[in-house]
Amino acid sequence: MPSDALTQKIARDGQLYWEHHAPGRILYSVQTKKRWIAFTFDDGPDPIYTQQILRVLKRHAAHATFFVVGQQARAYPKLLRELVGEGNEIGNHTERHPQEGRLTADEITSCDSVIHGILGVTPVLLRPPGGRLSDRIVDLAERTQHIIVMWTWDVDPRDWSQPGVMRIFSRIVENADPGDIVIFHDGGGPRTQTVKAVDMILETLSQQGYKFVTVGQMIKEWKDYRPYRNPSQLHTEINQSAADR
Ligand SMILES: [Zn+2]
Repeated sequence: MPSDALTQKIARDGQLYWEHHAPGRILYSVQTKKRWIAFTFDDGPDPIYTQQILRVLKRHAAHATFFVVGQQARAYPKLLRELVGEGNEIGNHTERHPQEGRLTADEITSCDSVIHGILGVTPVLLRPPGGRLSDRIVDLAERTQHIIVMWTWDVDPRDWSQPGVMRIFSRIVENADPGDIVIFHDGGGPRTQTVKAVDMILETLSQQGYKFVTVGQMIKEWKDYRPYRNPSQLHTEINQSAADR
C-alpha cells in the first residue's frame, strides 16, 4: 500500500495529465467564488449506510451526488427514489464495478438503464470504478455520452480504508476550498466512520459558510465544460435538475 504522500502525488499528477490530455471531459473541481462543495458517495446504495447518510444530509440541509452500482440499485430501487426525492443526484458507477481492464460500454449502459428504469432519467455523470482513468475509459465515456467525474485530490479522505473518524474529518476541513469535489463511500463495506465524519464535516463547514451542492449544480461553474454530442439537451437536463431543487 503506497504512502499517503505518494498516493497524493499520483492523484495530483494524474489530474494535471488528464486535464491537459482530455480537456473538458473530466471534472476534478471547479474554480468558483461561491462557497460550494460537492460531496459524492460511491458504491451504494446500501440498505444501512445510505439511509444513515441521507439522514445526516437532511439534518444539515445538504445535497450530494451518489454514484451507484447498477446491481445495488436493482436490489434497492426505493433508496434511489428517496435520495432523489430529497434533492440528491444519481450518477453512474457501472453495473458491477469491474476492474479497469474489464470496463465495457455494456457495464456503463446497463447501469444507465437500471437507473432510468427506477427514476425515468438517464444519468449524465460517470465515475469509473476505483477512480482509474485510461484513454479507453475516456473513449467509453464519450461513446456513451457521459461526463467523467473524478474528485479533488487534496480532500480525498480515503474513507474506504477506515482511517478513523478524525482522519476523515481533518483531511477535509483542513483542505476544503470552494469548488471542491469530495469522494466518500456509502457502500462496499462498513461505513460507520464515514457517516460520523460526514456529520461533523457538514457541521464545521456549514459554520464557515459552505453550501453542499450536487455535481450537476457545480458543473455550471465549470469553465471548461464541453458536453458531448447533444449539448443543448445536456444543458437543459442539468439546468432542469438544478431548477427542480
Ligand atoms: Zn467504487
